[in-house]
Amino acid sequence: MTVRSVSYGAGVQSTALLVLAAQQKIDFDLFLFANVGDDSEHPDSLAYMTDVAVPYAAAHGIELVALHKVKRDGTKETLMGRLMKEGSRSLPIPVRMSNGAPGSRSCTADFKIRVIAKELKRRGATVADPATVALGISVDEIERAKPGLDERMPYQFRVYPLLDLGLTRADCKRIIAEAGLPVPGKSACFFCPFHDKHAWANLARESPDLFQVRRQARGPVPCG
Ligand code: SF4
Repeated sequence: MTVRSVSYGAGVQSTALLVLAAQQKIDFDLFLFANVGDDSEHPDSLAYMTDVAVPYAAAHGIELVALHKVKRDGTKETLMGRLMKEGSRSLPIPVRMSNGAPGSRSCTADFKIRVIAKELKRRGATVADPATVALGISVDEIERAKPGLDERMPYQFRVYPLLDLGLTRADCKRIIAEAGLPVPGKSACFFCPFHDKHAWANLARESPDLFQVRRQARGPVPCG
């Protein structure tokens, strides 16, 4: 039987998918959350996962699983741990190029895509019978969608239920609120250079300790 799962991120769009699945408006009962590290994810995202998403999923018969990157020796590796590793010569998180555009990065592939792909394979996904993986992209960010078979991971076939339903990010917030759940913030590592000035200002104001940690991390500071 083809594996079907949603890539869950504890943000607005994937939480709307969780609500839609609970309401049986989309046909998914497995949600996979790739945790890049308790020291790396924004604490609000981890709290949302623990306090809201996990109990909501359980109450609706949905399996919501947190996954971690595991090294060959069996220990967990976190993105922050890799950034702070002595002697590491590469920067896995995105940097801003001189024109302001994000440069290449490996963090999403290493700590999210491959971690989820490994779990899909463990559950039976193969090249001959690829898993159907739903991603939470809404119509206002449609340019990020890459439907169909993932060439890098040929045992997963990407689908976009929010696009099929014509839902925007605002629609997602409404769906979550109408289900009686708090609307989550944007999910990302607290030090992600993709943050805009507004997000950095919020982090400095609301979590000055994290803002200081982010300054100490080897990751680059974004432009502006
Ligand atoms: S949130 Fe940013 S730093 Fe974290 S995995 Fe994604 S792109 Fe990398």
